Amino acid sequence: MSTDLSTTPMRPPTLRRDRSRLLFSEAQAVIPGGVNSPVRAFKSVGGGPLFIERGQNQYLFDVDGNRYLDMVGSWGPLIFGHADPAVIAAITDAASRGTSFGASTEAEVRFAEEIIAAVPSVEKVRLVSSGTEAAMSFIRVARGFTGRTKLIKFEGNYHGHSDALLAKAGSGIATLGLPDSAGVPAQVTAATLTLPYNDLAAVEATFVKEGDDIAAVALEPVVGNMGCVLPAPGFLEGLREITTRYGALLLFDEVMTGFRLAYGGAQERLGVTPDLTAMGKIIGGGLPLAAYGGRADIMDVVAPVGPVYQAGTLSGNPLAVAAGRAMLRRLREAPPYVYLDEQTTLLARRLREGAAAAGVPVTVNHIGSMLTVFFTDQPVFDYPSAKTSDATVYARFFWAMLERGVYLPPSQFEAAFLSAALTPDDFEAVAAAARESFALLAER
Ligand SMILES: *Cc1c(COP(=O)(O)O)cnc(C)c1O
Repeated sequence: MSTDLSTTPMRPPTLRRDRSRLLFSEAQAVIPGGVNSPVRAFKSVGGGPLFIERGQNQYLFDVDGNRYLDMVGSWGPLIFGHADPAVIAAITDAASRGTSFGASTEAEVRFAEEIIAAVPSVEKVRLVSSGTEAAMSFIRVARGFTGRTKLIKFEGNYHGHSDALLAKAGSGIATLGLPDSAGVPAQVTAATLTLPYNDLAAVEATFVKEGDDIAAVALEPVVGNMGCVLPAPGFLEGLREITTRYGALLLFDEVMTGFRLAYGGAQERLGVTPDLTAMGKIIGGGLPLAAYGGRADIMDVVAPVGPVYQAGTLSGNPLAVAAGRAMLRRLREAPPYVYLDEQTTLLARRLREGAAAAGVPVTVNHIGSMLTVFFTDQPVFDYPSAKTSDATVYARFFWAMLERGVYLPPSQFEAAFLSAALTPDDFEAVAAAARESFALLAER
């Protein structure tokens, strides 16, 4: 299809998807559900997934030759868009010297120094290969450090797929409407206490009852995994105060928000400092790299200094470290934050206007370069309110936008991640496509 949005007709031809369809049927024979991560299957929006051929700057190209403005950015990492030349050059250069050593490199030391300089809470940092590993590890460290077992997390927050953290989780679990995951022993999640997000009273009450047993409170300081949901004023400050009072640790999962809401993450932007932080996505520049870090006295319980074991064959992989360092250098040299804040705020206003003009009730949540359109007339501040959104309407909106050359997350319960590769004209084009799509929704 022609994706020059300025000439996109009101009713564009249906997308060519023959090759994506064929590949998906072949994939389903050899990969569970045809995908290597569940939300990629488009199950909640229907219609089968796109297979991607390549990405370039703000664009994603599928195997049928369609071009889209990408509002997903690989679920967060690509804040400068696809195939950023500085990142590609760094990876290529590193690859020419070998892909993995299983031994220390100078680049890991420099990278750790750069992360520590960037993120307020981090005095020491360990590299791992995925956000799942980072979050799993900071929980283990918190338990090892405090000698306590219980963990508070929040409904609709997602901290990767490790056993203890799969209780009432967001992201794919929310997308597929699963209660929890099979295969996780009840004994493992018994120590995970799940509370409603933004409900400080519930946290206080839980600490009153079991405060001596609670090792940590873990959360997304701004949630992306039930769609974009912001912390209420005072919520993060309240958690900081309660955890300190009870000798528990405050853990920020900034896998999504780190280096996105500010160079120093949500903690810099919102001014609340956790004890430990998990990072991923942007920090790896699009390669499999993540990290956890925090107060030096806490991080020193990690082996080989202390008794908490955590390891990885590919941890600190030289290609991934090179990509991450190039990404952080780009963020320091050309900070995209003011531009992305302005454009995202403008887009949110245009989306609200477009929906209002069509008479479609929406709640648009956004902060920094994260944004979600919820199809509900209620404010969205926790998981139950997120679920008031009509996911079937979202599915129709998703396809209407795709037909108009805009690739949104294929799930109501995931945030859009906007990149600095999107020009002001691209943002206008997205708003125009949304106006048409809202009008189509209203017609039925
Ligand atoms: C994506 C994400 C994770 C998991 O990271 P993976 O690299 O997918 O394992 C954990 N926490 C949050 C907040 C995330 O957004």
